[in-house]
Amino acid sequence: MLKPSDESQPLSWDEERDRIIGLGEHSQRKNYYPELRSNLSRLERFRTLLDLSGETILLVTLPEGRVVDANAAACELFDCPPETLIGKLLPDLGLAETTDVLALLNADAGAVTPVLHHREISLRKAETILPLDLSHRAALVDGTWFGVLLAHDARSRHAAEAQLRLAARVISDSSEGIIITDAESRIIDVNTTFEEITGYTLDEVRGKNPRLLSSGRQDKAFYQKMWQSINDTGAWRGELWNRRKNGEVFPEWLSLSAIRDEYGKVSHYVCVFTDVTEAKAREARIQHMAHHDFLTGLPNRILLIDRFRQAEAAAQRNDGRYALLFIDLDRFKNVNDTLGHTIGDQLLCDVASRLVGTVRATDTISRQGGDEFIILLSDIDSPETVAHVARKVMAALSEPFRLGGHQITVTPSIGISVSPEDGDDLDSLLKHADLAMYDAKQQGRNNYQFFRREMNARSLEMLLMESDLRLALKKGEFVLHYQPQRDVTTGQIAGVEALLRWQHPERGLVSPADFIPMAEDTGLIVPIGQWVLETACRQLVQWRATGWSHLRMAVNLSAVQFRQTNLVEQVRHLLDAEQLPADALELEVTESILMSDAERTALILNEFGAMGVTLAIDDFGTGYSSLAYLKRFSVDVLKVDRSFVHNIGSNKGDAAICSAIIGLAHNLHLMVVAEGVETQAQYDWLAANGCHIIQGYFTGRPAPADRCLPALN
Ligand code: C2E
Ligand code: MG
Ligand code: MG
Repeated sequence: MLKPSDESQPLSWDEERDRIIGLGEHSQRKNYYPELRSNLSRLERFRTLLDLSGETILLVTLPEGRVVDANAAACELFDCPPETLIGKLLPDLGLAETTDVLALLNADAGAVTPVLHHREISLRKAETILPLDLSHRAALVDGTWFGVLLAHDARSRHAAEAQLRLAARVISDSSEGIIITDAESRIIDVNTTFEEITGYTLDEVRGKNPRLLSSGRQDKAFYQKMWQSINDTGAWRGELWNRRKNGEVFPEWLSLSAIRDEYGKVSHYVCVFTDVTEAKAREARIQHMAHHDFLTGLPNRILLIDRFRQAEAAAQRNDGRYALLFIDLDRFKNVNDTLGHTIGDQLLCDVASRLVGTVRATDTISRQGGDEFIILLSDIDSPETVAHVARKVMAALSEPFRLGGHQITVTPSIGISVSPEDGDDLDSLLKHADLAMYDAKQQGRNNYQFFRREMNARSLEMLLMESDLRLALKKGEFVLHYQPQRDVTTGQIAGVEALLRWQHPERGLVSPADFIPMAEDTGLIVPIGQWVLETACRQLVQWRATGWSHLRMAVNLSAVQFRQTNLVEQVRHLLDAEQLPADALELEVTESILMSDAERTALILNEFGAMGVTLAIDDFGTGYSSLAYLKRFSVDVLKVDRSFVHNIGSNKGDAAICSAIIGLAHNLHLMVVAEGVETQAQYDWLAANGCHIIQGYFTGRPAPADRCLPALN
């Protein structure tokens, strides 16, 4: 027993403790019971330590497990004051697995070195289950075995573990490669994506410096800058090239960060990277698409502009020159129309690859769309160099192309402009090369022309002519001339062909060859063609009424006109209005019309055929077409082209072609007309060879209606 203090009331346990540890109002009463003070103070120190500990501490009797002592944390955990807690049995506290725990404690009681056991158990507390980390061991106190239980809330450990698991999962599942190194840049860990990208396994790289991936493409300065940034800012981001285990070099986008410990010292480096090979390839593809023609793969206009700037800069530096060749394929449209777009496209590709072979690697060949190509020759020394390239282009294209079982010949018309004389910017050089190309066409195609100043004037003239053409119909400047067609057997005029003329106020009578292509390009041919049909039919009505009752009228149709949807209706309506029998009208179409859009063409021609309108194939023998269409379409007349007729007497080949065409017509029961017959000899030859009808200067030049037919007696 302790001796009482000199106060009348004994101090409570807490007051006594406060007094001993120097707290509270009683603390001034030092030196009381000096003999006990040191023991008591040790006990109190332990008591205080126990109570201040966040760890739950319980002392239980063995073997039954009754609580004999508990600290403040225990009281809080089990929600009861010490006087209630003490005396309770362990299984009554709401703890799980207490039978197990007691069994172990009892088994260990009496052991020389009892084991400290750890486990996680749960505590049922009100509505919740609380996880606890529990340690327990048997302990000998004053010769008696007790069980000591230490427990604490396991939730923060759970949370930390979940966090770690999450981080590990993020690293392992990341679609980016991850390398973790120590402060000395030795690899500690890598993820699966790293292994997939580089081909190295963790075992192969552990402890090594990431330098082992280096491709050698970046120099020392690059890495110095990178480390400078990491040291200064703690991170670096950028693109670099590394090498896979198989030796392949690949681009990666990399982000490297230094991880510092709580003292600010670098403890790790984390490097996160993505393989950007695919992205780079995609970017390159997009770049390529943006700068190249989709069909031929040649540079497009954008790239040409870029190359032009380079050529310009180089020329300025070296006081040199550069030139543009504007290449247009002659009659390419015919190929498209007769053989179809697939063959047309293939031909353009083949032309492109032949062109590539004609220039140096430093020159640029570009397709401008359609059948137009531009060659940019940089650094040229004389006009002869350019002319040489133009001749090479012509030679390269001179061999026929074999496509889809066809043999196709294409020729180029080439216009040339040279800096600085013909312009010092792309637009004016292009414009002048274009004009020169147009001139090459005028000169009979398949040739090259250098730009000359006077060409500018001519282009102006063309523009003026176009605007005149737009007004010509309104102003009534068109006239029809008619050329008679004579029947060989009867010697009578069986029909006439209507041929269009433009009576220009200043230019005089303009030939259709000079304005029909322009009328087709501008679409003006549609109203003009309609006018021709109406005028010719009206004229025919007059003639038929004045004695030429069986006269037929041949009218030429353009491909553009043919494509307009209501052509059949127009003709039907016209024949009705003029009360003309359908077989009095003969429509002349060229082979190219037959071959373009064959399905629709067949439909239209057969409608004409059903109406009874006569169909003639004009300029027969000059197209690319196959003969199969003669069976397919309801054709009635073949008109042998005048180029074959011209040399009948002198050229065996032409004569053979003429007699072959006549033979073909006979076999297919078609009428055959020879055009361009100028001489008696030609007439005789054709008559002898079975030609039915003759047309040409020999039987009559095209003339206005009043001078076309001989007077009837
Ligand atoms: P085409 O239909 O083959 O017409 C025959 C051309 O040969 C005409 O040329 C005619 O004047 C010319 N010619 C006739 N006999 C002889 C001859 O003995 N010797 C020579 N050297 N030539 C002769 P033109 O009138 O200059 O017409 C040229 C082309 O213009 C025509 O060729 C035709 O394709 C087209 N054309 C004429 N009028 C029209 C029209 O109203 N509409 C359409 N779409 N085209 C037309
Ligand atoms: Mg004709
Ligand atoms: Mg003709």
